[in-house]
Amino acid sequence: MTAETLQFQAETDQLLSLMIHSVYSEKDVFLRELISNASDALDKLRLEAYQDKDLDADASDLHIELRPDAEARTLTIADNGIGMSRAEVVDLIGTLAKSGTGELRRKLEAAKQAKEQGASAELIGQFGIGFYSAFMVADRVTLVTRKAGEDTATRWESEGHGTYTVTDLTGEDVPAQHGTTITLHLRAADGDESLHDYASPHVLRTVVRRYSDFIAFPIRLVLPASEAADDAGEDEAAGAEKAGPETLNSMQALWARPKDEVSAEEYADFYRHISHAFDEPLETIAFRAEGTFEYQALLFIPTMPPFDMFYRNTKPGPALYVKRVFIMDHCEALLPPYLRFVAGVVDAQDLSLNVSREILQNDRHLVMIRKRLVKRVLQTVSAMRENEREKYDTFWTAFGAVLKEGLLDDQDNRETLLKASAFESTFSETGTTSLAEYVSRMPEAQDAIYYAAGDSRTRLESSPHLEAFAAKGFEVLLLTDQVDELWTPGAEFDGKRFVSVAKGEADLGDETPDAEGFEPLTEWLATTLDDKVSGVRLTSRLTTSAACLVGGEFDLTPQLEAMYRASGQEVPRTRRTLELNPENDLVQSLRDRVAAAETPADDETLTDAAEILYGTAVLAEGGAVADPAEFAAVLARQLGRSLS
Ligand code: ADP
Repeated sequence: MTAETLQFQAETDQLLSLMIHSVYSEKDVFLRELISNASDALDKLRLEAYQDKDLDADASDLHIELRPDAEARTLTIADNGIGMSRAEVVDLIGTLAKSGTGELRRKLEAAKQAKEQGASAELIGQFGIGFYSAFMVADRVTLVTRKAGEDTATRWESEGHGTYTVTDLTGEDVPAQHGTTITLHLRAADGDESLHDYASPHVLRTVVRRYSDFIAFPIRLVLPASEAADDAGEDEAAGAEKAGPETLNSMQALWARPKDEVSAEEYADFYRHISHAFDEPLETIAFRAEGTFEYQALLFIPTMPPFDMFYRNTKPGPALYVKRVFIMDHCEALLPPYLRFVAGVVDAQDLSLNVSREILQNDRHLVMIRKRLVKRVLQTVSAMRENEREKYDTFWTAFGAVLKEGLLDDQDNRETLLKASAFESTFSETGTTSLAEYVSRMPEAQDAIYYAAGDSRTRLESSPHLEAFAAKGFEVLLLTDQVDELWTPGAEFDGKRFVSVAKGEADLGDETPDAEGFEPLTEWLATTLDDKVSGVRLTSRLTTSAACLVGGEFDLTPQLEAMYRASGQEVPRTRRTLELNPENDLVQSLRDRVAAAETPADDETLTDAAEILYGTAVLAEGGAVADPAEFAAVLARQLGRSLS
């Protein structure tokens, strides 16, 4: 039995101290976190024992015990679940959840500086560092664990800063049963009112009922012999004939209960349990299907986006149960990636407990369930949009960009998704518009849905591409999510195509401007700027600016080009068309100078003007010139000429 002292990773250490000293007020939730972990461990054991008949494990009385000891000032939480190997202890407990740790620290620090009550609490759960919440109420934590099937055990101990010790246990130190026992040496309250007395049976009863009532395994309160007598006196009605441990939770699977018998609080607590989150569910969707294939579903739309929503390896899907037995978290066959923010549970009656992920992907029953889940979620979103605008806005701000991925991936629901989506537009200075509202405002002369796509509303609004649309009173959607560039080509709503204001020849019902007298200019510019533009033409698109750049209908936009490059893909550089405003003074003077010059290519004033015309068109649409230093030099030269 040799103890080894190990250092917390620097990040873990910093996080711990931030968390312990955070402004966080709800200390009670540490118990929910530890019970949640115990419950997961029991789920795992039950499934493993079922799938591996040779596993040396006893799954006959799976339960969680709470053992308070007022005299010793400790609280012990024990489960007879799957347990952990030594390596797992070091890996899982010695390190905080690996993904996003840096981000968590930044957010916690920000929350601390802003002294935001509760913000750090939300973060703790969001990032999956549940176990460490024990240090909010304990100044020393001892964990003893024995993995099912192994005959050695491991002890882990720490005071929550700097170091922890790990000891291999052998011989009679090894617990008789697999599972994990965590002993908390409770902090003194020292006037902190949120730090309740967790060695008090009364407090434990209240906290368990509040947060963990639905846990599917019994949570038993086990008192030391001397205290059991006292407690009976304190709580006479229940106490008198009480013999042996008391079960604190009702153990009812929430999804199996009729919806009107479950309170909003119960749903909210359950949501936080399964999603490891701290916020409230924005919407709760509960339903059951009966008939040839039975299942119950309980889904939640969160209020706050999970921190990992845009990580590449985020898994979609609710947890899958078969007849109340936990099978897996995140059953990907049950929801598409664009609904990855939806949390929940599906309990199917007719699947085998031995199902694997591979089988699930092709199971026709699951395909049916998935269709139904998607439909219910989208109906809920549409209903929010119609009846609860404020709630919908919260939803859209958090999840709109993700939901719109469905416009690309889910052809079957495209129409529904378009109807449920919100868009900023040139007509909505604050707030958003729906497509139906947009279409209802379209003047008769307008036959397409116009949009501008880019990184920010401000940039889009000042882009020259919008000029003629504004002049004509045509509304333009302002799309600022990356995914917008991907779904808009080819999309239709109410029989109207989506048309980019920055692409193709603008068909605004105007006559093409008369090119007479401009040919020498357009031809010369096309040659001079040959490496940058694919052609030069006159346009009625502009009312004030001199020039703008437009792509062909199927060209990549500059933003998409940059996006592909950033992701390491090689894409050819797209040359767009330079469009000139024949009414613009600068364009007219240039026309005259070029017509008058014998060889305009030899006149540096003109070649510089061509570069500036092109460069300012790029800048005006919010783009970046390829060589800023070179562009600055050209500008300075031209300015010098105009001043002298
Ligand atoms: P989270 O539960 O969010 O993953 P925790 O820090 O609470 O984060 O736990 C980290 C991991 O440690 C868990 O995912 C689990 O694998 C393991 N673990 C924690 N508690 C137990 C337990 N009682 N029994 C078995 N494994 C546990």
